Amino acid sequence: MTQFANTGAFSNLGGVVTLNVYSDTELKKLTSITHGTQYTGNTDLDRVYTEHVYKNGPANRLNLVGQDGVLKLYNQSKFIPKEAETAVANFWNYVAGEEIVRFVNTVQESDEVIHDISGDNGVLAAQTYDGNGLVVYPDSWHIDDLSKEQQENWHLTTIIHEIGHGLGIPHLGGGVDGANAGKAGKFGNELMGPWSVFDNPDGAKSTLIEAAALAIAGLTWRNPRRLASWVLDDKNQKAYALYNKRVTTSTIPMSTLPSVLDVKALKDWGKAKLFTLDTDYFDSKIYLSLQSGVVSLSLAGYMTKDVLDGDFVIANTKSVKGLPLPLATTRGFIIDVTRPESKNGVIGVLRWYPNGNIVVNFNASFKASENRHYFDAGLTAVTNLNPNF
Ligand SMILES: [Zn+2]
Repeated sequence: MTQFANTGAFSNLGGVVTLNVYSDTELKKLTSITHGTQYTGNTDLDRVYTEHVYKNGPANRLNLVGQDGVLKLYNQSKFIPKEAETAVANFWNYVAGEEIVRFVNTVQESDEVIHDISGDNGVLAAQTYDGNGLVVYPDSWHIDDLSKEQQENWHLTTIIHEIGHGLGIPHLGGGVDGANAGKAGKFGNELMGPWSVFDNPDGAKSTLIEAAALAIAGLTWRNPRRLASWVLDDKNQKAYALYNKRVTTSTIPMSTLPSVLDVKALKDWGKAKLFTLDTDYFDSKIYLSLQSGVVSLSLAGYMTKDVLDGDFVIANTKSVKGLPLPLATTRGFIIDVTRPESKNGVIGVLRWYPNGNIVVNFNASFKASENRHYFDAGLTAVTNLNPNF
């Protein structure tokens, strides 16, 4: 652990890409999408398909995503207002179709810290990969002639760009470090390329290239994930996520909406329905509250049964009257309250599937332990319920 990072930079040995997530045809298609539209010579990621490696020249491309598959950020930067954090994280969550970025409330929970360094060194922000976290240089910015909203949009698009690097996405211009498109004078609209608020007055919009690059990067994480696979379906060619003025909206298909809140879309927070579910795996009930198409599920108590390897269905919500099912598989973490000194306190995953199953899966390290433990777990899901119920 360093002052600004709990999770070190990662790449697979030799930069190899995990191959069992996509078919050969799908992997080829992902790399061909990254060739680009405006500039079509972005062949930098072709080695993912031809050599099955994720490299920039001879060097492995790195990411900062931990074993749990969610990049967790602690924000100390004056560039990122608290009110914008959810929208910044949601940009990548929407592109992924699942939660992959989250702002957390303590340094301990985080993979890395976003923090400011004073002095104008000509660099706006940087992802360090060396234990120094995500660094912002406020004194290097000289855009005071823009409106406050334009300034903040530019600042936060830069943060979204740097988070993209943390996820393992490179500059998307082709050639070593993505410089080819710039040399050819043909930039695309990728925020993972040279991006300016003048070219993007309506905010930062994701492109298919970024979605395909994220899908590829997810194959190189500690725990590889299938992300943004909607990009493989040609009928989704116009789908995008858009960050603008502290709100992220998305036209990415509903079936892949992530398990995160877009607060602007919610109404009637005072109107909540409450549900309880019995589970004989725990000594207390599962509680669910439904507000405007969002369900939060919480579980706390002692386990009453042994858990074996793999997923354990502890309850099914399919037949619960008035409780809609989640649109996509939603997950949260199981915390061991009895032993907070255990690795991050996280000892497993809680999942809620669109078929209604609520599932627990405990880490191998936990299973080896014989003591009685008190657990806490929760998750938040978007449902198919009309927000105006
Ligand atoms: Zn960059």
